[in-house]
Amino acid sequence: MNKIRLRLAPSPTGFLHIGNLRTALFGYLLAKSQNGDFILRIEDTDEKREVEGAVESLIKILDWVDIKFDEGPHLGGPCAPYIQTERLAIYKDYAEQLLKSGGAYRCFCSAERLTTMREEQAAAKLAPRYDRHCRDLSQTESDQRAASGEAFVIRQKMPIEGEVIVYDELRGEIKFKAADLEDHVLIKSNGVPTYQFASVIDDHLMAISHVTRGEEWLPSYPKNFLLYQAFGWEVPKFIHLPLILNKGGGKLSKRQGDVFVEDYKSKGYLPEALVNFCVLLGWHPKTDQEIFTLDELIKSFSFEGMGISPAVFDVEKLDYLNGYWIRQKATKELVELIKPYLSNYLADAQGFKKTDDFLMNIAWLEQERLKKLSDITDRVAYLFADKIDYESDLLIWKNLTLKEAQANLIEIKEKLLLISENDWNKDFIEKNIIEWLKANNKKVGDYLWPLRVALSGQKNSAGPFEILTVLKKTESLQRLDSAINKK
Ligand code: GLU
Repeated sequence: MNKIRLRLAPSPTGFLHIGNLRTALFGYLLAKSQNGDFILRIEDTDEKREVEGAVESLIKILDWVDIKFDEGPHLGGPCAPYIQTERLAIYKDYAEQLLKSGGAYRCFCSAERLTTMREEQAAAKLAPRYDRHCRDLSQTESDQRAASGEAFVIRQKMPIEGEVIVYDELRGEIKFKAADLEDHVLIKSNGVPTYQFASVIDDHLMAISHVTRGEEWLPSYPKNFLLYQAFGWEVPKFIHLPLILNKGGGKLSKRQGDVFVEDYKSKGYLPEALVNFCVLLGWHPKTDQEIFTLDELIKSFSFEGMGISPAVFDVEKLDYLNGYWIRQKATKELVELIKPYLSNYLADAQGFKKTDDFLMNIAWLEQERLKKLSDITDRVAYLFADKIDYESDLLIWKNLTLKEAQANLIEIKEKLLLISENDWNKDFIEKNIIEWLKANNKKVGDYLWPLRVALSGQKNSAGPFEILTVLKKTESLQRLDSAINKK
């Protein structure tokens, strides 16, 4: 059996869309689970939509999620070049071939004629469609007009009647009415092919065995399919991945933000989580396991688990998976990951707050709770602050008065003063304080609430013993003093 070969064929129109990440992942997994090749090909024949730097950023972000290619513009390979605008001569030859065999024809219609045609179609409430005006020009006339320098496009000769039956690996047979298909453009008047043409030629020349792409490409499939037939080539196996909808059932749109992988990266989603999340958008594992690494997926991913019902993009699920993957990080690695989100604080930090030890403590303090790395910025602002600001009422637990809360803080402070810097760690302090509270029949909340607020100034935060550990003795006691003196 020939080697399985899949490709990702993005157009360089901007950052990688989350849907394209899913497409990339499914292609990669299908290839790698069967020891196949995964190829990157850049489909840049639509100059109008091209964005500068997009190819580099696509390559970078796919590398970040650890999807590795076997061939591509950055790697080279036996089918190079992998950028379509570097392959224009190839498409020209195949277009000539199709003109000769009668699978395509030259269309000399002017832009004005096409505009009038469309206006008339719109007025008659007809679908906008090329009226096949040039389809039956004689070969001689067509050749002569081309030779005399008249501008033309090359159009695919589509069947006029009947049905086109295509096969999708997930959906089986799909029928399209020939009457709904247009004689669309394969080669534009500047000689550059459209995506529809170039991608078929390249998939064939690059020996692509399977194509994974989003369901939105399904309407193009009959055109692609008929081109393979016109050339007498074997059609790769097509797998159109289900649509990705938002929770309300609508399309993911740029207006809602959150469609580019870069956006997720900058918010502090981990590549492990994005991969884990995206694979569940259209693949159903055999067991109820839902946590997967990329390596595990290469082993367990199979075509059988793929479905066609729309996948729901549930951000809460993504947060849950991201939290899981954050918790798997070694504290030291987490420190490196959160550093960029603390850079403003670190620029102003003084003393021990500049040290890696402080950052290790911060990571230890928040690791269990973080849903995304960027959450760290707000969560630990109070630890970096020189002075924390809060209403004195916040110190009050249930029906204590402010005076009573402050008196409790004075008692706690005296206990804390007795603990040496060497013993200043969560377990030691906690044991010491809790034993003292119990031995003296004191209510835990009456002491630990004011203590936690005095240290954090927050209604919700990490626990008081953890914060004491992070802030160390001197700063902790200073914060207690200001709470005690608060009016
Ligand atoms: N160039 C198309 C895109 O930008 C790829 C479609 C396909 O995979 O055939 O998504």
